[in-house]
Amino acid sequence: MLLLPLLFLVGLATARDPRGPPLCGTPFALTPENLDIYDGLLNGSITPGQGSSDLLFYRDKGGPREWPRNKENKVVIKYCFDESSVRDKVEKQFREQGIGEWIKALGGKASEESGHGLEFEETKDADGKPVYCFDTTTHKWDDRVASSTLVVSWNPSSHFAASASIGYVAYGEYEKEQGIHQMEVGEDWLYPVLIHELGHVLGMAHEHQREDRDNHVEYRCHNVQDFKKIYEEVKKYSPDAPESALCDILANAVLFRFRGQEFVKGLSVGDPRGTVDKRTFWTVMDYGEPYDHDSVMHYYSKAHMEPGLQCGKGFEGGCTLAKILSDGGREYIPVPVKPSAGDVKWVKWTYPWMDPPAIANTTTTAIFNTTATASASVSASV
Ligand SMILES: [Zn+2]
Repeated sequence: MLLLPLLFLVGLATARDPRGPPLCGTPFALTPENLDIYDGLLNGSITPGQGSSDLLFYRDKGGPREWPRNKENKVVIKYCFDESSVRDKVEKQFREQGIGEWIKALGGKASEESGHGLEFEETKDADGKPVYCFDTTTHKWDDRVASSTLVVSWNPSSHFAASASIGYVAYGEYEKEQGIHQMEVGEDWLYPVLIHELGHVLGMAHEHQREDRDNHVEYRCHNVQDFKKIYEEVKKYSPDAPESALCDILANAVLFRFRGQEFVKGLSVGDPRGTVDKRTFWTVMDYGEPYDHDSVMHYYSKAHMEPGLQCGKGFEGGCTLAKILSDGGREYIPVPVKPSAGDVKWVKWTYPWMDPPAIANTTTTAIFNTTATASASVSASV
């Protein structure tokens, strides 16, 4: 274990935004020159796998939770764009290529047939006009918007794709915290990134951060962007620190702002509550499901790679992740372009379709017919 001087810890915390940026992001660019990553889609070699991971196991112990259900037993995730210019930039893609792709993969909208109870809904006024998260003039939270609403914002930094908070955390002392659920979209976003970030919003963690991932992928920490520079920095504080102090200990990766924090095994950042020096990490749960290389939550082989390194089918010294084949060989991992069978299974397991509560029917029918009330009660208990 690497022990860090407390002064350093405090200094870093005060130098940053007290909350910090949205967590668990994909701040790597999926630029047109990376389009070879679509090979898998084009030649059909992407085969749906099974099993996906999340951070929801500690839902009763302060961790991220599933999004709650409304009175009709549906899970309606409301979202707002933080201002009109952001809506102009990403609304269509967010609705069609983010939400739309998830709903398509889930077999259509929430229903008994599709087997899920999930809906997404933009905040709008009585005339159907969008209501933004923040008032355009005062830049304060618009009180017409529920505090737990997912804020979709824009990050103008170059080479930034997107990031998002994980699961539902607006409860307890954070119940009325405005804008605690966030998704940032950046200049370099590209279609599959929105699906990945929505997976985080639903509660999913990175598949390659499962505890057992070393049996399925080779992680090359030294190829992560800025590894050398940051490791030198670590050694200033602890000269004998092994590379694993930075690569395998999440607290250190976060403190040193190392991109490798998105690869640490078994633990994930993902709770946006609190300040950066008091961040809670959560165990990545896999529930014994098979490892899913095809999950939309799995990084591809070039994710967060040091610029200039070569990574392709031959692994020319580069790559941050490689699939381990059963014969011991390695294989390039392409960008996942749609939710896998395992991702769909996770959503239907986490957000299953539930009939509206029978009590609503009972109240309505009771006005007209007491016999109907009795039958409604019977069906409710089945
Ligand atoms: Zn992510």
